[in-house]
Amino acid sequence: MLKELCGRFYSLLKKEAAHENEPQRILFLLRNIMLLLGLYFLIFPLVMCLVSPRTRGWIGYVFAVLAALIFFGTYRLRVRTGVVMCVTLQLAWVVIFILMYGWDCGIQHLMFEMLVLVYFAIYNGVGYKIGYTAFLFAVRFVLFVYCRRNQPYYGLTENATVVLQIMNMILSFVLMGVVCAMFSSNVESAEKKLVLYNEQLKKQAGTDPLTGLWNRRQMMRYITEKHQKDSNMAFTLGMGDIDFFKKINDNWGHDCGDAVLVWITRHMSEVLGEHARLCRWGGEEFIFFFPDMNGDQVFEILNVLRMRLDNAPFDWKGEWLKVTMTFGVEENDFSSSIDTLLKNVDDKLYMGKKQGRDRVIY
Ligand code: GH3
Ligand code: MG
Ligand code: MG
Repeated sequence: MLKELCGRFYSLLKKEAAHENEPQRILFLLRNIMLLLGLYFLIFPLVMCLVSPRTRGWIGYVFAVLAALIFFGTYRLRVRTGVVMCVTLQLAWVVIFILMYGWDCGIQHLMFEMLVLVYFAIYNGVGYKIGYTAFLFAVRFVLFVYCRRNQPYYGLTENATVVLQIMNMILSFVLMGVVCAMFSSNVESAEKKLVLYNEQLKKQAGTDPLTGLWNRRQMMRYITEKHQKDSNMAFTLGMGDIDFFKKINDNWGHDCGDAVLVWITRHMSEVLGEHARLCRWGGEEFIFFFPDMNGDQVFEILNVLRMRLDNAPFDWKGEWLKVTMTFGVEENDFSSSIDTLLKNVDDKLYMGKKQGRDRVIY
């Protein structure tokens, strides 16, 4: 029952704006502020009854009604109007409070929350914000000077002043906390989204969209970084190229060619995946980076892949196509550059093609 009530209340606070493209979170914030202020305004006359019965605190009820009106107004008004009304209400309270009860109750500190609220909730130019800051400063300054020269309308006892100080301190801190919590979580979530988006972009920039493998740029970056970190690193490069791929395209269409690329990627990942980094080097060519493996080991494992392709024809809409690959293998000799190693492995692949394809050359 209580849970349901809380849920309903929460959805009332979260309810959409009447106008499109309005920042929902600011409306939520305004409703929270109005709620807290409303509570404060309602408590105020009761507290005044206790600490200073001569001074009439009924003005709190008037402000409570105004806070309620603004609260419900947020369902119809534009966010900007809501913020302006919220700030005006608080400013009116500060001014009236100080004129009635004096400077010593600390209600003027509410102005800092009003400042932060407008800075973050209204998307206006810097000039507007500086103007608003100057305006708040001027109001505060005038009130301060006024209080130095004039007595408040109601003189309060020391005890009443202390109680109001505490009440106002709590109000200022709570409202400031609510406003800051909302805007800092806004910034945090925006930052988080940006980081995720950047990661996604980075991943996309380094990935081949058809096969999901790394692209040439990502592989080059990876190998170069690894090599720079440890130039004595043992590794072997493999290069694979689909045989007569052009014929597959010509005979069965480009879609079939694409499907072959995806199918071959699956086989490559299954056989080589745990030993090597794979990349689509371009077209129907692939590069494999085998860390901590020598040429003989890579020769063996590429032969396993080659034979697997030999024995598992590709099913294209009921037609069984034999797809083979030729491979080159080049072990790091600890003296050649990456570019030289890549050229050597390409030469070996070319040799394999010349010797009749469907083989591994080491
Ligand atoms: P070889 O055995 O000598 O490697 O002959 P090949 O036909 O495989 O090689 P060639 O370089 O003559 O042709 C490669 C073809 O691959 C040409 C190009 O249209 C095709 N190709 C490149 N990228 C893609 C792709 O993403 N999808 C499809 N379907 N075809 C592609
Ligand atoms: Mg080819
Ligand atoms: Mg090729």
